Amino acid sequence: MLGRVLDGKKMAETIKSSLKRNISSLSAYGKIKLIVVTIGDNPSSRIYMSAQKRVAGALGIEYRVKKYPVSVSQGKLEAEIERLNKDNSVTGLIVQAPVPKKIDIEKLLSKIAPEKDAEGLNPSNIGRLAYEKWTVAPSTASACLYLIESTGVKLEGKEAVIVGHSPIVGKPLALMLLKNLATTTVCHVGTYRRGLLKEHVKRAEILVVAVGKGGLIKGSWVKKNAIVIDVGINPKDGRITGDVEFANARKRAAYITPVPGGVGPVTTIMLMKNLVELYKVQRKKR
Ligand code: NAP
Repeated sequence: MLGRVLDGKKMAETIKSSLKRNISSLSAYGKIKLIVVTIGDNPSSRIYMSAQKRVAGALGIEYRVKKYPVSVSQGKLEAEIERLNKDNSVTGLIVQAPVPKKIDIEKLLSKIAPEKDAEGLNPSNIGRLAYEKWTVAPSTASACLYLIESTGVKLEGKEAVIVGHSPIVGKPLALMLLKNLATTTVCHVGTYRRGLLKEHVKRAEILVVAVGKGGLIKGSWVKKNAIVIDVGINPKDGRITGDVEFANARKRAAYITPVPGGVGPVTTIMLMKNLVELYKVQRKKR
């Protein structure tokens, strides 16, 4: 039997409806506003931002892009973040990756006030994840957890394997799965170079892949009845594919996300959910 496809678009619509109700109950307190700081012109950033703009618009969230040329200095960006931190009309900020090499993105992220950190990437919010007390978390990691939980699986004691340890997906998701008492293994390029990737993937009851290499994970490696979450986005012949061989993996998995239409739409709506949470925190403080 083929595994069930986890329809991220449909799930995002369901979350959107409940967020809409939540936002309309808060509307008396003023508008929610997201500012995206972007540097240069990157095709993938353009795609992410157009999805963010569309979803924000549907939710009545004000969406503004502050675009800077690649020549912009670190100092100017930091000053702008500090200004936005103080602007009471701004609910949340994002620095859209990638940024030019000369820009220290970690420094920019650490400048964002934790209560305006819409992507949950400020060191203080990452620390809250480690202490299992988060209000906002990186949206792609939250999307992966949401998709896993949508299957109804009980995470406690499950063998979870994450491939990729980036600060926006693999690392935060590992902390989230640990909170849920899944036995969590994180694989990366070191695992690959030692030739141990297949061995780890083969025992994963829950497999999340976030690398950015099309077809890296062979369908035959997937454990029978596994839950497979494919975060990868790889352009191929004018379309995009994931990191997992979808058709072959589906023959073995119980659940699998498609690319596109899996993690992506849920990620965008999780960002909006973060904004609503930040708005509530800020309202309490005023
Ligand atoms: P990233 O920062 O480049 O991280 C990639 C990770 O994969 C790194 O931890 C890297 O390890 C590891 N890696 C590289 N080659 C590997 C190999 N052969 N075997 C095992 N691990 C390997 O990327 P990212 O930002 O996390 O994004 C990953 C993918 O997800 C990309 O395709 C991106 O476009 C996509 N993405 C999708 C969404 C969405 O909403 N759908 C959101 C974010 C990202 P080292 O660092 O040790 O080299």
